[in-house]
Amino acid sequence: MRFISTRGQTAPHSFSDAVAVGLAPDGGLFVPETLPAFDAGALARFEALKNDYAGLCFEFLRHFATDIPADTLRAIIQKSYTRFDAPDIAPLRKLDDRLHVLELFHGPTLAFKDFALQLLGNLYEHQCAVRGESINVLGATSGDTGSAAIHGLLGKPGTAIFILYPDGRTSPLQERQMACTGAENVFALAIDGTFDDAQAALKDVFGDQSFRARHHLSAVNSINLARILAQCVYYLSAWLRLPPDARAGAEFVVPTGNFGNVLAGWMLQKMGVPLRGFKVATNQNDILHRLFTTGEYRVTGVRPSLAPSMDIQVSSNFERFLYYSLGRDAARVREVMRTFKAAGRYVFENFNRDTFSASRCDDAEIPGIIRRVYEKYGYIVDPHTACALKDPDPGRPSVVLATASPAKFPDTIREAVGVEPRHPSLEALKARPLDKHKIEATPDAIKAFIAARAA
Ligand SMILES: *Cc1c(COP(=O)(O)O)cnc(C)c1O
Repeated sequence: MRFISTRGQTAPHSFSDAVAVGLAPDGGLFVPETLPAFDAGALARFEALKNDYAGLCFEFLRHFATDIPADTLRAIIQKSYTRFDAPDIAPLRKLDDRLHVLELFHGPTLAFKDFALQLLGNLYEHQCAVRGESINVLGATSGDTGSAAIHGLLGKPGTAIFILYPDGRTSPLQERQMACTGAENVFALAIDGTFDDAQAALKDVFGDQSFRARHHLSAVNSINLARILAQCVYYLSAWLRLPPDARAGAEFVVPTGNFGNVLAGWMLQKMGVPLRGFKVATNQNDILHRLFTTGEYRVTGVRPSLAPSMDIQVSSNFERFLYYSLGRDAARVREVMRTFKAAGRYVFENFNRDTFSASRCDDAEIPGIIRRVYEKYGYIVDPHTACALKDPDPGRPSVVLATASPAKFPDTIREAVGVEPRHPSLEALKARPLDKHKIEATPDAIKAFIAARAA
């Protein structure tokens, strides 16, 4: 299997090369050259593995990662799902006959990003070993992605990870997840300024080609192909474990920011796994809600919310959706992206609403939803998951993806239901020394720091 760019101006890459590069050199996103078409035989093989998460993941990923020997791939995957604190990795919890919750927060940082970033960390480690080269991963974060990436690379030989974040603007627990690891290859860099300042400085660092090449820099972001493919697996696993009468009609309800999560489910459907459809649940930053209800994709400013990992302005994964929606016509993708960049808006014609529905949830509604769910089911959800529980469709079964543990958001939960959820791994962090590096958000300061500590 080879991987091509949504913009059509990059030579096909192997799986490992596409994963290593991240963004395609022509500015597009990697997609499989052809999508596998899973037939009845393939679905039966998946079915037999429905209670073996890592086994199922291998059976799925082997169709894509064809340049990695099967035994090696199996071992990489096996290792990636050992640090989850639930035996079935992604527990499917039944709240009532119509409503299931897929718990995606049992990984080391208690949010769904661990599913992809644990695997990505092990793929990087494998690559370092095969090529005999080190790798230095660099990223900016406003919260969850940075900590999940750090925990994917923690202590891995040949790698170092540098994560910039705005000092004082992440939650205290998120900061501790990044800065209390005790690992020698992890550097949490606190800057004075905003997330955008951090992003801008990073962009300059990556723009310095010779520095980039010298230190084998790689970016953490939400567009890596391996992240999307890893995320397909929990949709598949959940679908296989649904009661047979719920499978055909179930809608997957997905708390959405950058569209990476829901895109994975949609791509799985395109490969022939008969998922019925998806509800894109946004918070008050509702660019995607507006798209899926009106057909217009238009940028507005970001308003910080109680569900901060969904606070986005433009969805970076959207280009993959566009590519398939435009019949895989890379020239049209280039044209639409150009128009969108210039005008800040794009209107879809012949918009197909069969597969997607959408909902939006204001900050003012979130505590009430958490309270209602708690009173009805005795179950506590985090503020992101709450957005997806705003109005469950009574007419059909739903699977709500729970993207973070409520223990990560103790203040919002306490205000909503009067109890404070705790998690042992977060409690342990509170006792550890904070090891953060204050740094100026300038390309020179960042480069000097990396040069002194690179793997
Ligand atoms: C990242 C994140 C999201 C948004 O996921 P996307 O793939 O960006 O749509 C939702 N909830 C939580 C808790 C997250 O960390």
